[in-house]
Amino acid sequence: MTSILSQHRRSHMCGDLRAEHVGQTVTLMGWVSRQRDLGGMIFIDLRDRAGLVQLRFDPERDGPLSEEAARLRSEWCVAVRGEVVSRGTNVNDEMPTGAVEVVPTELEVFSEAKTPPFLIREDTDGNEDLRLKYRYLDLRRPPLQRALLMRSKVNALTREYLLSQGFGEFETPVLTRSTPEGARDYLVPARIHPGKFYALPQSPQIFKQLLMISGFDRYFQIVKCFRDEDLRADRQPEFTQIDMEMSFVDADQIMEICEGLVATIFQGALGLDVSPPFERLTYDESMRRFGVDNPDLRFGLEIVDLAEEVADSEFRVFSGTVQNGGAVRAICVPGGAERFSRKDIGELEDFAKVYGAKGLAWVKHTEEGLSGGISKFLSALEQEGIASKMGSTVGSLILFVAADEPVVCASLGNLRKELGKRLELTDPSDFRFCWITDFPMFEYDEDEDRLQAMHHPFTSPTEEDLQNLDGDPLALRTNAYDLVLNGNEIGGGSIRIHRQDVQARIFELLGLSAEEAENKFGFFLEALKYGTPPHGGIAFGMDRLVMLLAKADSIRQVIAFPKTTRAADMMADAPNIVEDDQLRELHLTSTAPTGEETGS
Ligand code: ASP
Repeated sequence: MTSILSQHRRSHMCGDLRAEHVGQTVTLMGWVSRQRDLGGMIFIDLRDRAGLVQLRFDPERDGPLSEEAARLRSEWCVAVRGEVVSRGTNVNDEMPTGAVEVVPTELEVFSEAKTPPFLIREDTDGNEDLRLKYRYLDLRRPPLQRALLMRSKVNALTREYLLSQGFGEFETPVLTRSTPEGARDYLVPARIHPGKFYALPQSPQIFKQLLMISGFDRYFQIVKCFRDEDLRADRQPEFTQIDMEMSFVDADQIMEICEGLVATIFQGALGLDVSPPFERLTYDESMRRFGVDNPDLRFGLEIVDLAEEVADSEFRVFSGTVQNGGAVRAICVPGGAERFSRKDIGELEDFAKVYGAKGLAWVKHTEEGLSGGISKFLSALEQEGIASKMGSTVGSLILFVAADEPVVCASLGNLRKELGKRLELTDPSDFRFCWITDFPMFEYDEDEDRLQAMHHPFTSPTEEDLQNLDGDPLALRTNAYDLVLNGNEIGGGSIRIHRQDVQARIFELLGLSAEEAENKFGFFLEALKYGTPPHGGIAFGMDRLVMLLAKADSIRQVIAFPKTTRAADMMADAPNIVEDDQLRELHLTSTAPTGEETGS
């Protein structure tokens, strides 16, 4: 066997060969995707980052070389040199390289491969745990290659655009102290400061604000953030943000820059014009019409308030709720009367119950008017009022929830999204953006009986509400904005507080004593005293953004080495126990049982 690599450089990528290369001698390097022995002729699909190309070995012509080729198995890593020939009439339209094949005259095996535990193909047979354990093999699959290369492209487009807009790229510490983004911190024991800990940043929030105080004017960073939260399907303990901050701007200017960034990314990554400016909805309007603050605008099915129509109804479930200050709202599903059986409605009810609804009332709109479900409890006048307000027509299904406003919003809002999925109204190639603005400053945390910042405590109340800092805190509105794409929050930010007295007051409203505020944020409160420019910013969730661009259904598909929903790395087997000596050096003792898996 000859050594190709010692004499030749790779001349082409496998996936790039086309009819125009016919007649050229090429040197290719990659992995055996498939080997077929067809009546003596051996065909191999050779794969690299750019795609697949077919190699053809002919025993009659190249005897020993074909024998060598016959030995090749899936995922062996090899090099070949040979001529590109036309496939004539045997063109394979499924492959971009399908007009040609390569007839090798030299072959070198760099390394053999064990039989992979699952198929390395576009669609594989491996379950996710197995694929996460052998992540480096799963990453060889074309969809993952495409997603991660798309991610690389998004990084490049982001840098290019933001640098062109006068931003500088700055790094901020990973070993730091906790900043309050509302989650639990990952802590790192400080060996040379016994008993003290660093926190990994939940975001670079305070640092980017300090960079504004330092006069850098426009900051960005593509940065890892860490939050020790109970994980949901679309969360990771470490995730990446495109983090930005700007001085001397208002919210409109920040939103414009972001629209430019998003348009650049979509144009560059997908060749798609997303035509900013994007629609804007206030938080209140979004909650009223869609029940959530991340509405999917690809479809209608809006939530309609029926308080007026049912306030005096004999049906106490409705009228009683309205009279007690609750809400009665509904969604009208055109064609839903046929589409959803009793059993389906039962499933939808179970779904609504997850969000606190006690039940899901329904009626169908038939030729005879509203019928079935709760229709018998409603007077003719009420039925008419409801049908007309809902805009229902024959064949519609109306689904109602009566409860406290937050429960009505959460249950109908999420039900609306579920209906969108079930009715296939959510085409992943349709991209609908909107901004949600005017968020409340605080939300009330019932469990802890205290106010929580809805965005974070550095968010500025609106100009008018700055006068109302001593009034009802729950009525305060902020200059915060989220960018939502197809029902996913992909970015969120705000104009910040740049006055030290206002910042101190917000800490106070959050229940931090002056001493605690000083203790936790003293350095930041001090910094605010040295000529702080008005400033604001935003952070985009890179993982989610790339997931949507790549039309993937989980952020794990767009992260090279992701963790499971139990925050574990199946491949590296992290987290893991450490040596007692390591703990001793860190002045730590573990109270967990050692030497065994603890609860994972
Ligand atoms: N630091 C915020 C976050 O991580 C984003 C921002 O306000 O800029 O959500």
